Amino acid sequence: MQPFFFTLFIASLTIVLIAQPTRTDYSNAVIREVKDAPDQPLSEVKKSDEEWQQVLSPIEYHVLRKAGTEPPNGKIYQQFKTQGEGVYYCAGCGAELFSSKEKFDSGSGWPSFYAPSAENIKLDIDQKIGYKRVEIRCNKCDGHLGHVFEGEGFQTPTDQRYCVNGVCLTFSPKEDVSTSEKKGAAPTKK
Ligand SMILES: [Zn+2]
Repeated sequence: MQPFFFTLFIASLTIVLIAQPTRTDYSNAVIREVKDAPDQPLSEVKKSDEEWQQVLSPIEYHVLRKAGTEPPNGKIYQQFKTQGEGVYYCAGCGAELFSSKEKFDSGSGWPSFYAPSAENIKLDIDQKIGYKRVEIRCNKCDGHLGHVFEGEGFQTPTDQRYCVNGVCLTFSPKEDVSTSEKKGAAPTKK
C-alpha cells in the first residue's frame, strides 16, 4: 500500500503545482474595452495599496502601482493594432490619456502614441535600470504607464514614442466619444 500512497502524494503534489496560477504569465491580458467613457476624475485619486489591489487585476496592479512592464507582442499588441477610432483612458482612475488620433504602429511590441490627447500625463526621470529614461505617469492617480522615447526617426509629428503598457489603458470606441463630450469630459488638446 505504501508505494500507492506515495504515488498518490506525488500525483496530488503535481496537480497542485500545475494548478497554481503562474504570477508572471500575463499573456492573456487585454486592454479592457468600456462602452461608456468613464467620468473624469476632477482631482487626484488616492487609494491605499490594499484598495488598489482590490480594484485592479493582478497585472494592472503590477504595472500601474509597481511600475512593472507587460510582456511585449502579446494579445494586447494585436488588439491595439486592430482597434479603430476611440479614446484611451487610465485603467486606474479613468482619466483620458490618449486617443486613436495619436496612435501609431512602432513595431516595438507595445502600444505607441506620438503624443497624449489630454493633459493628464506627467513625466518623471527613471534611473531604475542604470540609465536615464523618461517615465510616463498618470497625473490623477500617479499610476505608472510606460516610458517616452524621442528622436528615434518615426515619421510622426513629434518623433516621440509614448511606449505604453496596454493593461494601464481602457478603450472606449468612437461612438462613445460624443457621449464623453456631452458629459463634459476633459477637452482634448489641439
Ligand atoms: Zn490614472
